[in-house]
Amino acid sequence: MKRLVALLLGTFAVLASPASARPAKDRRDPVVILVSIDGFRADYLDRGITPSLSKLAASGISAAMRPSFPSKTFPNHWALVTGKVPDHNGIIANSFEDPAHPGQKFTMSSDEPYWWDEAEPIWVTAEKAGIRTATMFWPGSNVAWGGTLVTEPWKQITGGTRPSDWQQFNQAASPVQRVNAVLDWLRRPAAIRPRLVTLYFDDVDTAGHRFGPDDPRTNAAIAEIDRDIGALVAGLRELGQRANLIVVADHGMASVSSERTIPLDAVADPALYKLGEAGPFAALAPTPGNEAALAAALLKAHDHMQCWRKQDIPARLRYGTNPRIAPFFCLAETGWQISAKLPAKASTGGTHGYDNAAPEMAALFIASGPDFAKRGKLAPFDNVDVAPLLRDLLKLPQASDGDGNDAPFRNIVKQR
Ligand code: AMP
Ligand code: ZN
Ligand code: ZN
Repeated sequence: MKRLVALLLGTFAVLASPASARPAKDRRDPVVILVSIDGFRADYLDRGITPSLSKLAASGISAAMRPSFPSKTFPNHWALVTGKVPDHNGIIANSFEDPAHPGQKFTMSSDEPYWWDEAEPIWVTAEKAGIRTATMFWPGSNVAWGGTLVTEPWKQITGGTRPSDWQQFNQAASPVQRVNAVLDWLRRPAAIRPRLVTLYFDDVDTAGHRFGPDDPRTNAAIAEIDRDIGALVAGLRELGQRANLIVVADHGMASVSSERTIPLDAVADPALYKLGEAGPFAALAPTPGNEAALAAALLKAHDHMQCWRKQDIPARLRYGTNPRIAPFFCLAETGWQISAKLPAKASTGGTHGYDNAAPEMAALFIASGPDFAKRGKLAPFDNVDVAPLLRDLLKLPQASDGDGNDAPFRNIVKQR
């Protein structure tokens, strides 16, 4: 009897013990991990080669997500974390110029804050609210957001907000290293452990460009990243770290061939324009005095391509008001490419940047974790809805000037 009382008292003591006396495992708050698999087309998930991702999708929600236009890497990664379409978030292409900064050009390695300050990324909103963040790569995550570039007496950036932990992008860091870096951050003591993490993989996009979306070598890259996601999930379990995982892609991938090229020099005299980014779309600025001649050459019917003045780009693309967008804009039919002249060498592969409604551009979306109900496949939604979802998960107020909203996730995100 004495022993029974002692046993019962012991059980009561465990049940009633303060949180500090419980094993560390139980005390961990869930972390939000936003994973991007660059160029993971939505239907790659149906190929039967992604057991880890499929398991996550089955335990939560998934969708074929519409990227923002143009379906390029930097504009879409910025849309995902700011909730604004490229026309409003300022990253209007992977490469562009800005009349406010003559002589300067944005490239994928530009980290001067002025390129990025048209929209606030979620890690800055979170840091300002006292939520610790860490980024294992993400376009813009190495920028001192809101900071100022000072050029005298030497070039330096002052002020601004970065994630508490961030890494300078390095394509050579392997996916396994990236996963382990995230797990190491989560192994830290609670005071310096992130609550919002980003993780970025480029290999599926790289393979898609080189080999095309339907090549076995692209499937091999997909399967490899799936194993890395499996290692992330296993590592989290090992740590006792609950996580709301949101796995996205920035865009899909379409097959291309040099045989499907639109040479611009056959459409308009190259003396009439300066060509910006070209490929699935082309950005053109008239050379001085040649606006009318360029308009006459571009603004008519073309095979496999349509051109507009920026203010006449169809409204559904939500693109054309930003001063960074060149005065003339041409969009190729999906699978075709616009180039300065006919390519000298034959080539095949894949690319993206096309109409964001093209099925080939649809992007992966999966969310799973303690805050998500199991609802299976959702109807397609826009990628600017992801930032509002992140705000809900982090209990941050919604932005008043966002282009998306959390409607696709209502009744799916559990109220804690
Ligand atoms: P895209 O040309 O649109 O296919 O861009 C994809 C490429 O962007 C990847 O292969 C990466 O090398 C590059 N990239 C991704 N993230 C970053 C980053 N944070 N900084 C610089 N380059 C990046
Ligand atoms: Zn990309
Ligand atoms: Zn790409």
